Amino acid sequence: MPLLTRMLPSPLLIDVRPGAVGGLGPLLADHRIATSGRVAVAVGPGQGDSIAAELGAGAAEFFHVPAATHEAAATLGQNLRAGSFEVVAGIGGGQTIDVTKFAAHMAGIPMVAVATSLSHDGICSPVSTLRHESGAGSYGVAMPVAVIVDLDRVRGAPGPMATAGIGDVLADLSAIADWQLAAADLGEKVDGLAVALARSAAEAVMHQPGQSRSPEFLTVLAESLILSGLAMAVAGSSRPGSGGEHEIMHAINQLYPGAGSHGELAGVGTVFCAFLRGDLEQLDLISGCLARHGLPRTPAEIGLTHADFATAVRSAPDTRPGRYTILERLAMTEAEVADRVDACAKTVAGLGSGPTSPSCRRRLPRRVRAASLERCRCVWSAGRTRGSGRYRGGSWWWSRPPERRAARS
Ligand SMILES: [Zn+2]
Repeated sequence: MPLLTRMLPSPLLIDVRPGAVGGLGPLLADHRIATSGRVAVAVGPGQGDSIAAELGAGAAEFFHVPAATHEAAATLGQNLRAGSFEVVAGIGGGQTIDVTKFAAHMAGIPMVAVATSLSHDGICSPVSTLRHESGAGSYGVAMPVAVIVDLDRVRGAPGPMATAGIGDVLADLSAIADWQLAAADLGEKVDGLAVALARSAAEAVMHQPGQSRSPEFLTVLAESLILSGLAMAVAGSSRPGSGGEHEIMHAINQLYPGAGSHGELAGVGTVFCAFLRGDLEQLDLISGCLARHGLPRTPAEIGLTHADFATAVRSAPDTRPGRYTILERLAMTEAEVADRVDACAKTVAGLGSGPTSPSCRRRLPRRVRAASLERCRCVWSAGRTRGSGRYRGGSWWWSRPPERRAARS
């Protein structure tokens, strides 16, 4: 029988679990990846040093990654070449992994990604995003040879950055819609497998009902970020994970450096692009997921005015020439962009905090301290009955049980 299937690139090992960082030493010692033991370890700020101490020096040589810049990546790549290392492990958040991926590619050696936060889908992708003197760029690199996600470390990571990758996974829905638009308008070829992987990843995160730091949710998020990276490897480009929303992100990075992380900007851009497409059902779901996990949805929530955001939207197509998205299709005038930025923010404000709060389905204490609460509206997933609830610390609390308790799913 002729072999008509295609071969797909994939890491040798994917390990997502609490305490997974403990598996790095044995992996590097079992001679599958490093035969002579010349191992480098790149660690980022934050948890990098404590993990390095936990692993012990051993035969590995440690390097610190100061920032996610092209300069830092090039310097690390030179050090890896000079040291004749066989493999490098990048331990840290998305930025450390991006720098190490680029450096490993430059040095021509395999790279093991050890993620301690889930800030974007670069933990497994063949793409490295780095800042440079003119903004930020995405570079094609070899995908990691192994991916380790330590859920204990992710859960212990401070701030919303630890799970900001939610926005980057949801951006797959926007990128897929843009890809299909390019197919309809320009005849661009769409890879069905890449779409299947990317869409499944986004849908899994969007509908996972657990709280942001729950083991169940973190597992789904980590696996979805890995699937999203694999989709890009299958497609041979970032197409399944990067559309108009990433163009807006690149423009914001150039115009307003420091306004939001990669995952946060991807989420805000995804909301806006869903609005531009008129897909209000998807907008509702995406907005609800971001709000449920405490991530921004509007320009104001990343510290930008509507005018700032509109300026970024207008210059967004220039950041990625040749990529056709909803922005290129609409080719909006300055006034049209301004109108839609305002209208999108109003629409999002009217959505409240989203349709699928898991705690809606449980009996919860009726009285909580009102001073620390924020009133919210919620749209029920069962029967879409509007009810009034309160949101605190990632959970919904009902001060008055709704009349239609029987309608709960
Ligand atoms: Zn991204």
